[in-house]
Amino acid sequence: MKYKRILLKLSGEALMGSQQFGIDPQRLEQYAQEVKRVKELGVEVAIVIGGGNIYRGIQAERTGIDRVQGDYMGMLATVINAMALQSILEKHGMFTRLMSGFKIEQVCEPFIRRRAVRHLEKGRIVIFGAGIGNPYFTTDSTASLRAIEVEADVVLKGTRVDGVYTADPEKDPTATRYTNISFQEVFEKGLNVMDMTAITLCQENNLPIIVFDMNKTGNLYNLVMGEEVGTLITT
Ligand code: UDP
Repeated sequence: MKYKRILLKLSGEALMGSQQFGIDPQRLEQYAQEVKRVKELGVEVAIVIGGGNIYRGIQAERTGIDRVQGDYMGMLATVINAMALQSILEKHGMFTRLMSGFKIEQVCEPFIRRRAVRHLEKGRIVIFGAGIGNPYFTTDSTASLRAIEVEADVVLKGTRVDGVYTADPEKDPTATRYTNISFQEVFEKGLNVMDMTAITLCQENNLPIIVFDMNKTGNLYNLVMGEEVGTLITT
């Protein structure tokens, strides 16, 4: 296998599946099976999950809710998703730990870097909930930050598109997909990959990102085995 320790970023929105809101049980089940396949290879797996299927801080202001309050609501939404994911992974026999960016003592451990690394070394899947625990950030930035902190080999951004395109493929039929692209080109071309903070963190720390379609069965496995899947972003 190509990667020994991965940081998988799953968006909350993807968890909705075909629903308008919430968590699609079939999607969750599929993700558990994909993760199990790479876990069985002996890969150390850390996961950051978003909360966009439930709440995003940016929505708050439109509804008269304070932005910072809204961001904390968004972070709590990620914990709901993380708890669901944890439960399904455990149902499939995997060992997991949920670590939160802020204290929710009855439900999960607080994020402590050394402890997270130890869990990974022991073969536990570590799910990072509540983002980094600060408002005005996203779970994409959390993915980059946590990946750097636990010294993951790569950030795998699982989405519903199969990579980075020259334009939005859902709007522009002539858009083509990159197999490789540099961080610099992502900035120069203004490509919509992850937010700028997330990309900058990876660029500065020389940490590759692969954007790939998480909904396609076998993609995660193939990627970990070194196959060319999605778009690789490197320095
Ligand atoms: N959030 C935050 N700080 C963080 C991570 C997340 O404030 O470190 C909030 C923010 O409001 C964000 C929401 O949590 O909109 C849900 O996360 P995100 O939008 O990244 O989820 P995704 O798009 O991956 O579903």
